[in-house]
Amino acid sequence: MRPDDLLRPTEAGLYCPPGDFYIDPVRPVPRALVTHGHADHARPGSEKVLATRQTLAIMALRYGEDFCVERQEAPLGETITINGVDVSFHPAGHVLGSAQIAVSHNGLTIVASGDYKRRADPTCLPFEPVRCDVFITEATFALPVFRHPETADEVAKLLASLRQFPERAHLVGAYALGKAQRVIRHLRDAGYDKPIYIHGALKKLCDFYQSEGIDLGELRPATIEAKSGDGTIKADFAGAVVVGPPSAFADRWARRFPDPVSCFASGWMRVRQRARQRGVELPLIISDHCDWDELTQTIDEIAPQEVWVTHGREEALVRWCELRQLRARPLHLVGYEDEAE
Ligand SMILES: [Zn+2]
Repeated sequence: MRPDDLLRPTEAGLYCPPGDFYIDPVRPVPRALVTHGHADHARPGSEKVLATRQTLAIMALRYGEDFCVERQEAPLGETITINGVDVSFHPAGHVLGSAQIAVSHNGLTIVASGDYKRRADPTCLPFEPVRCDVFITEATFALPVFRHPETADEVAKLLASLRQFPERAHLVGAYALGKAQRVIRHLRDAGYDKPIYIHGALKKLCDFYQSEGIDLGELRPATIEAKSGDGTIKADFAGAVVVGPPSAFADRWARRFPDPVSCFASGWMRVRQRARQRGVELPLIISDHCDWDELTQTIDEIAPQEVWVTHGREEALVRWCELRQLRARPLHLVGYEDEAE
């Protein structure tokens, strides 16, 4: 069996002809297997959805209970057979519930890793290398210039700024699923035990993480007005950490805080120009994707016969593989945004 007969890129996403299912389809399909809850991978409207319990719960939180007609839970490591094709889900280390999907048929195994990272993340299970013939890797930060610094050092920068500017609110932009909870958890691990204020858009997901046993400490709504006896007064956010989704920073919400220090937690903060364009005063290079070294080390470790590269800087990683006599091709799948990182 040729790899292309088992999984192939189509306009709707990666399709498995013998199993008649799609992985992370970008439009509604009869049967979808979903790697994780980020909006570009998990979309509503498919008939049947197979995903980890946590990803199914996250989809229900984001899209409502009727995000599909029939949902099926994929317990990690267990084989499920669909039309004679074996599939199994394995931790991807990206966000809570994220999984790689291994697809096996007639002695051939392809692993679609979705988004993944190798760094320690206190909010999800670590990436688990799975033996396979073809490894499908993301390429969000697949250029040698991308080398993410130690997460603890980035968190230390934020804590140092809080000490330096005790009168200023520190507004941390962080993607609503995964990054926000991870930044909060890292702050707790670094000993920060004051209440952390969150934008309303983060509440449901933070509550879900807490209900899954990830302790985020005391979270309070970042509402500017607090009632006092004779009316409303401005709540005091001096020296507070306020976490919100990146989109909130462009609107009036962000301007309500006193002399804020604008921070943004993203792998893209490695690019100074991006930080400048966004008006970020304190860039925090914290990524939920692999950097260049982690991508190449992962391919070395898994040692597949062939690598397929998708969403991101595909060409550089394909070239790297070819220089090592490893067969590789870009998939050119469309519809996966690497901005939301
Ligand atoms: Zn993702």
